Amino acid sequence: MPELPEVETIARGLRGLIVGRRVANVHIGLRKMAIAPPGVNFRRALRGEEICDVGRRGKYAIIELGSGRALVTSLRMTGRLIFQRTQRRPHPYTHIRLDFEDGSRLCFADSRQFGRMRLIERGEPWAADLGIEPLSLAFTPQRFIGMLSGRRVPVKVFLLDQRRIAGIGNIYACEALWEARIRPTTQAKALTKPAVRRLHTALIDVLNRAIEMRGTSVDDYVDADGLRGGFQNELSVYGRHGEGCVRCGRPLVRTVLAQRGTWWCKRCQR
Ligand SMILES: [Zn+2]
Repeated sequence: MPELPEVETIARGLRGLIVGRRVANVHIGLRKMAIAPPGVNFRRALRGEEICDVGRRGKYAIIELGSGRALVTSLRMTGRLIFQRTQRRPHPYTHIRLDFEDGSRLCFADSRQFGRMRLIERGEPWAADLGIEPLSLAFTPQRFIGMLSGRRVPVKVFLLDQRRIAGIGNIYACEALWEARIRPTTQAKALTKPAVRRLHTALIDVLNRAIEMRGTSVDDYVDADGLRGGFQNELSVYGRHGEGCVRCGRPLVRTVLAQRGTWWCKRCQR
C-alpha cells in the first residue's frame, strides 16, 4: 500500500510529465472510482482543463487544475497513476483515463478497485481530517511530545492514525520504531521524552531515505513511469520475521497489533 514516500515519488514524477498538458477527453470504466461534487459531471468538468501542478498531502496525490479545481487521488491498496506518452494499450486495470490533447495520457489503474479519484472544487476543504505532515517544519520534537502525551494507545497504532500524522503506514511505522529502539506496543503516553525524540528523528530519517530510493515496492507499487522503487532492499524489519536483526542478530518476530502485521526485534525494542 503506497505510503508517503511512494505517493511523493509518484507526485514528483507526474509533475515533470503532465504539468502544462490539457485534457481532451476522459474515459471512465468504473463509475465508483470517479467522484465529483453534487451536480458536477466528472468527465465534462475535466474536459479542457490544463494541469497546473501535482502535489501530495498524506497518502493522497493532488493534481491541480487551471480552474482552481483539483483531482485528489487515493491509491489505497493497489492503485497506480501511470503516464503513457503514446496511445498504446492502456495500462492493465485502467478504470479512469485522462487523454491529453497531445496524444499522451494518464491512466488510473487499480486491480482491487479500492482507489478513488475525487474532483474537488476550488477552496473545498477536503483535508480537514488529516493530521500534520511529518516532513513539514511544523512537525517539531516538541510538537510530537505534546501529541503523544496522555494518549492511551500503543505507539504504533498512534503512528498509523492519519488524523494525527498524515502519510505513515505499516512499513514506515515498523521501520521507524525499530530505528528508535521502541517496542511497538508501548503506550504512547508512557514514552520518555528522549524516546519520543529518537522516534521523531527516526521517522523523518526513514521517510527521507525512502523518498531518495523512490519508495518501497513490496507489493504493487510503481512510480508514474511504471518503475519499481528501491527501498524494499533497505528494510530492516518489515516483512523479515525469522531473519536476524541487523543490529543484534536475534531473529525478528511478527506479531499482530490492531489487525496489522508488526515486525520487530525483542532484544533491541524493549
Ligand atoms: Zn535487534
